[in-house]
Amino acid sequence: MKRAIHWFRRDLRISDNTALYHACKDAEEVVPLFIVSTWKGHHPWTGPNRQQFLCGCLDSLAKNLAQLGGRLIIRAGEPCAELERLIKEVSAEALYTNRGIDPFDVALESRLEKSARDWGIEFRRFLDVTVQAPDAVLTQSGQPFRVFTPYARAWQSVPRPAVLPKIGRLRTPADVRTEPLPTLAHWNLQPEASIVEPGEKAARTRLKRFLDGPIFGYAEKRNLPAAAANSRLSQDLRWGTLSPRQVLAAAENLMRCSDAAQRRSVGMFINELVWREFYMQILWHYPEVLHRDFVDSLGALDWNDDEAALRRWCEGATGFPIVDAGIRELLATGFMHNRVRMITAMFLTKDLHVHWKRGEQFFCQKLVDGEIASNNGGWQWSAGTGADAAPYFRIQNPWTQTKRYDPDGIYIKGWVPELRDVKPADLMRPPESHLAKNYPLPMVDHNRERELTVERFQRAQQIAGNGRSL
Ligand SMILES: Cc1cc2nc3c(=O)[nH]c(=O)nc-3n(C[C@H](O)[C@H](O)[C@H](O)COP(=O)(O)OP(=O)(O)OC[C@H]3O[C@@H](n4cnc5c(N)ncnc54)[C@H](O)[C@@H]3O)c2cc1C
Repeated sequence: MKRAIHWFRRDLRISDNTALYHACKDAEEVVPLFIVSTWKGHHPWTGPNRQQFLCGCLDSLAKNLAQLGGRLIIRAGEPCAELERLIKEVSAEALYTNRGIDPFDVALESRLEKSARDWGIEFRRFLDVTVQAPDAVLTQSGQPFRVFTPYARAWQSVPRPAVLPKIGRLRTPADVRTEPLPTLAHWNLQPEASIVEPGEKAARTRLKRFLDGPIFGYAEKRNLPAAAANSRLSQDLRWGTLSPRQVLAAAENLMRCSDAAQRRSVGMFINELVWREFYMQILWHYPEVLHRDFVDSLGALDWNDDEAALRRWCEGATGFPIVDAGIRELLATGFMHNRVRMITAMFLTKDLHVHWKRGEQFFCQKLVDGEIASNNGGWQWSAGTGADAAPYFRIQNPWTQTKRYDPDGIYIKGWVPELRDVKPADLMRPPESHLAKNYPLPMVDHNRERELTVERFQRAQQIAGNGRSL
């Protein structure tokens, strides 16, 4: 084949990129393309942090492609229209891309499939975003899994694709027009936070740093937000600056030369990668989770329409130190530790009774790693409405969570400087008076709100004719 287009979307790397690899193998010349979206100022599912990371990744991708002899082509607009224009301009014979799994990508690809026939070109799509295809891991009766543990067991038993060889060379036709690499100004946005370094090289450095040490303490410390024991790779898996195959293969290599305790830690890390795939297959099979509870019987659950409470949560001013620390970490860095994501999400849904969709959207607008499958999964898990969710009566108590996971108050004090001089023990129980000047009293009584939540769940289940006793 003479010419093909590789359309980059959430696969912003040159190594182990399935569609790019095949495009380079099949075509003499490849046009590596990224299409920038044209919304301005506000988007319900993204925000400055994620877009800033994207811009940095595109900059790094352009340099990496240049080293292979190619050139990243940037266009801006509606994807189908831009693709049609470019296909005609360069007389491409094929369009290569890696498949998306969310309902928006699925709809777009099905439109493109039809258009490609009209344009008379080949449309080749590849599995790349997950190790296992969302429809490759099914129950014995061919149904999608709704519960994690049997899914993970089945996931392990399906053969996995290997990491691909490096691409040697990529030739892009010289005369193809490109727009400049985007900056935040393209969407009328301003930088908001101090985010991690974008790009494939930075992602590999993060992976190496994690594999060189912290991974062996993962089992023991992964729930401690002050411990820096997690990989911090979520934005790289979100934007494809690393492939999930590369991360998995690197972890499995370590397994082979580790002792039993180390293997347990590495195994736990791999388990988290499988959670990511679990939520992706949930979204693939049940795209309606973006609009409604995964659990059918909770439709009558009461939520509070409380904008003032939501605002205090979004500002990190609830008077619950661990919750406020989490939100302030998010606002400052575009990231929040997993344990604290759970605590803050449960607090919003079960202490403030605000609908999970409000928190889900706020997270997506702030997180650099904002991933609609994992984010929806995490929110519905915390709210008690999701796939394999926390039982509704198991409600995390922010005070005891602090005692378990931030016993010295290091994480809290790092993000809530007003509390720097407070004794750690005072961060683990409801205070009788202000903990510090300028720091609010707890906005609710956790025990009372807990009872209210349990009552609301029981009522919803009764209404659904599905009442269960505790
Ligand atoms: C309410 C809520 C919202 C979340 N939103 C997102 C999101 O938008 N994007 C996102 O990538 N993750 C999300 N998560 C999952 C998890 O919090 C992050 O993946 C993790 O904190 C990222 O840090 P890490 O890379 O250091 O993780 P590690 O602990 O090092 O885990 C390794 C990788 O496994 C995956 N992973 C880990 N935990 C989970 C999980 N519970 N569910 C799915 N995948 C997981 C991630 O890709 C992560 O990079 C959410 C969790 C909750 C409770």
